[in-house]
Amino acid sequence: MRKCVGCGESKPKRDLLRVVSPKDAEVFLDATGKAAGRGAYLCADPACLAKARKARRLERAFDRQIPPEVYDMLEKELTEAIK
Ligand SMILES: [Zn+2]
Repeated sequence: MRKCVGCGESKPKRDLLRVVSPKDAEVFLDATGKAAGRGAYLCADPACLAKARKARRLERAFDRQIPPEVYDMLEKELTEAIK
């Protein structure tokens, strides 16, 4: 079980999307679930990303700054992933 950084609910890993923070690149949505780097989990729901963004939970989880354009990209990737 993993906790969604948006709503805080615990769910089986397969029901969540993984966001990864690679050492030398910006944060992105890890569709394979296997990319190297620190991971955080989100429900397959843009509302959870919005919540995480507002509360800066990804910044806290990864201990790094996340520029607005990276959040916009995450939003796009998430929307694609749940189509
Ligand atoms: Zn959630």
